[in-house]
Amino acid sequence: MRDLLPEEALRLRLIEEKAREIARLYGYEEVITPLIEYYELLAAKIGEENRKRMYVFEDLGGRKVALRPEFTASIARLIATKMRMKPKPIRLFSTGSLYRYDEPQFGRYREFWQANFELFGSEMPEADAEIILLTDDLFSKIGLKNYCFKIGHVGILRGIFEEEGIGEEKQNGIMQLMDKKEWDEALRFIKQSATSQKCLDSIRGLIEISGRSTSVLDEIREVIEDYPRAINAVENLNEIISLLKAGGLNTDFTVEAGFARGLEYYTGLIFEVYVSEMDIALGGGGRYDKLVELFGGERIPGVGMAAGIDRISLALEKQGVELQYEKPERIIVIPIERSMLGEAFRVASALREGGFSAEIESMGRSIARALSDADRRGISFAVILGPKEMREGMVALRCMAKRKQVTVKMDELSDKIRELISED
Ligand code: AMP
Repeated sequence: MRDLLPEEALRLRLIEEKAREIARLYGYEEVITPLIEYYELLAAKIGEENRKRMYVFEDLGGRKVALRPEFTASIARLIATKMRMKPKPIRLFSTGSLYRYDEPQFGRYREFWQANFELFGSEMPEADAEIILLTDDLFSKIGLKNYCFKIGHVGILRGIFEEEGIGEEKQNGIMQLMDKKEWDEALRFIKQSATSQKCLDSIRGLIEISGRSTSVLDEIREVIEDYPRAINAVENLNEIISLLKAGGLNTDFTVEAGFARGLEYYTGLIFEVYVSEMDIALGGGGRYDKLVELFGGERIPGVGMAAGIDRISLALEKQGVELQYEKPERIIVIPIERSMLGEAFRVASALREGGFSAEIESMGRSIARALSDADRRGISFAVILGPKEMREGMVALRCMAKRKQVTVKMDELSDKIRELISED
């Protein structure tokens, strides 16, 4: 876990703010769920790998609880209980910190932040397409360059496994291995599950298939022609991709037939976002149609996405992209004598009312030292309060960059500063 110093903390919050803005634009309402949940709820469908990495403990009431490793279980709990009667679709946004005892490495932390979007109630491909188009919009508004989507569908692999009579537990084991790209191990596991040669050949064939055009879907169709459930999955993927193209996706995508994701609950589309500078995903998501019923609700389908805020921040740094935001002009108020501190506080308040960022010289420095410190810290203006000027209701206003000073009436200070800014 890290300490985020001002520059990093600012970038994290700005990315979070962009995500919140996108949520508002797409009609996703924010919800806030607790950082701690019952272990059983979080462990239910997160997958063996992630389950082992949860921070689990007993609270003072003897309950087995854990720090949340993801948002989706908590949100599905809300949908199954407090929001069950809400008209569908339900679009929800959440953001905050998550905890996984991952091996720390570049872009992998034990405490990290996500912005999370989920759409519940629709099985239609337009819901899947909306989630990807929203993700595209978020990454493009953040200013990331050359990001691209990796897209797959767990229904293709699971369709084959189901028709081969491989149980869910075993399927999950195979998918975990495929997620880690341990192909040989995955194939060995499949072989052990007493499946047909045809199954092995099909999976082997799928692992090889990946590409940028929709002709990839034809290649997949050829390999899985004997598995109707897998074919349904490809047709669903085809519909989603057609909608993405029609909807004006801004960026490239690759379809990968052997793509699997670590979380167990996916039932349909899955995707991740990458930039060429990093080989770890900046975000990912997919469809989970059975998760809500697992938490005691009725069958309410869902599709969602989690953007990894820390990794987006790293990618921005690597690409040299600065997030744009409205920075109020910084002003320092320096009283020449301590007896004028009260007046300095009042002037600073008035400046803040006027929309400026105002601080008071609070180190007891001389004017000269206070000014050189203000220079060093990138402050734009200094307001100097001297006894003579104050008696006349005036203050000295110094433009730090131009090293020029004017005397201004106290009640015209904000207007004068705005006038000087607009002259630049
Ligand atoms: P997941 O919840 O596993 O689907 O991950 C969604 C996104 O969260 C990933 O694409 C990453 O950007 C981010 N993420 C997941 N695990 C970590 C981690 N340990 N450290 C930093 N970011 C992470």
